[in-house]
Amino acid sequence: MKRIAALFLALGMVLAAGCAKKDQDGPEQREVYAMDTAMVLTIYGEDALRAANAAEEEIYRLDSLLSRTNEASKVSLLNNAEGKMVPVGVALCDLIQTAATYTELTDGAFDITIAPVVSAWGFTTDHYQVPEQEELEELLTHVGMEHVQLSGKSSASAGYENASLDPGTQIDMGGIAKGYASDRLSVIFQEHQIPQALISLGGNVLAWGSKPNGSAWRVGIQDPNAPSDPNAYVGILQLTDAFAVTSGSYERFFEQDGVTYHHIIDPSTGYPAQNGLVSVTVVADAAQGNGTMCDALSTALFVMGREKALDFWRSGACDFEMILVDEDGLVTVTAGLEDCFQAAEGGGYTYEVVS
Ligand code: AMP
Ligand code: MG
Repeated sequence: MKRIAALFLALGMVLAAGCAKKDQDGPEQREVYAMDTAMVLTIYGEDALRAANAAEEEIYRLDSLLSRTNEASKVSLLNNAEGKMVPVGVALCDLIQTAATYTELTDGAFDITIAPVVSAWGFTTDHYQVPEQEELEELLTHVGMEHVQLSGKSSASAGYENASLDPGTQIDMGGIAKGYASDRLSVIFQEHQIPQALISLGGNVLAWGSKPNGSAWRVGIQDPNAPSDPNAYVGILQLTDAFAVTSGSYERFFEQDGVTYHHIIDPSTGYPAQNGLVSVTVVADAAQGNGTMCDALSTALFVMGREKALDFWRSGACDFEMILVDEDGLVTVTAGLEDCFQAAEGGGYTYEVVS
C-alpha cells in the first residue's frame, strides 16, 4: 500500500485518490509499467477486481500491439515490412485512420510518420544525438500520411485489415497510444458498471465518475520547472467524468552543448518544437474517443505553440479545453476550465483565463 501511495506522488499527476487503506470496500489498485511509463489504476465498485484484471490485460495487449521497441508488435511488423502490405488487423488500421484525421485537423502538427525523425534524435533507443541537417532533410521526405496505405476491407462497412508504408516511412504511436488505451479502459469500466475510477497512464488521466464521497477527483498539473518534484504543480483540476492529458518538454529530453532537446518533434522542421511552450494539458468529457483525441491534440498543440493552439481551440474543430504553460511562467487556461482550475500559490506563475 505504501508503494502505491509513493507511486501516486511520483507520478505527480493524481492527487487524493480517495483511499488510504485497501479494505473490503476499498478500491482495487494496480501499478502497471507499460508503454514506457508508470501507470496507476484505482477502481471502485462491486466488479472492480475483474475490471482491474481486464484493464491490466488490455494495457499489456495494446503495448504489444503498438510498441515500436517491441520487435514482435504489429507496429514493428509494419515498420519492418519494407513497403509490403501486411495484415496488422482492424484495430491498428482504425487507429492509423484516427491518427490521419488528427494530422489533417492539426495541419500536420500531429503526425505518426514522424517515427524516423524521432529515432534519428535517439529517443527510441536513449542514445541521444543531434542529427545532421542533411539527414533530417532526407528523413522528412518520408514523413506524411500520404506514405501510408490501408487495404483489405471484408465488406463496405468493415474496417481495413492490412497496411503498408512506403519504403523509408515508419510510424510511431507514442503520441496517441496512451490516450487510446484510456479510451479502451473506459469501455471496460462501462462493461463492468464501474461507478468510480481514477487512472493515470503516465500523463494521461481518466477521472471516471467522481470520488466515492461525491466530490470531484483532484488532478495536479505538473510544474514543468520542477519535473522531479512530484508535489510541484502549476495548479489543480477538479474533474468528474473527464480525460486530462498532458504533453511536456520536461517528460523526455537530453542536453548537448548547453542546449536542451526534447521529444516532441515539429514535423515541419524535424527539430523539437521550440515556440515557448513547456506543457500543454488537454481536457475533455469522458466520452468514447476523447482519450485518443486529448492525446493527439496535446502533442499537436505543443507543436503549434500558444497562439496557434488558441486559434485551434477557438475554431471549435474539436470539443476540448486546455491549459498551456510557457517558459516565461504564463499559464493560459481556457474559459471552460475556469471553475474547476485552482492555481497553485508560490510557484512564480501568472495566470490568464482566455475565451
Ligand atoms: P506525447 O507525450 O503524447 O506528446 O507524445 C510524445 C511522443 O509522440 C514522442 O515521444 C514521440 O514518440 C511521438 N511524437 C513526437 N513528435 C510527434 C508529432 N509531431 N506527432 C506525433 N507523434 C509525435
Ligand atoms: Mg499525445
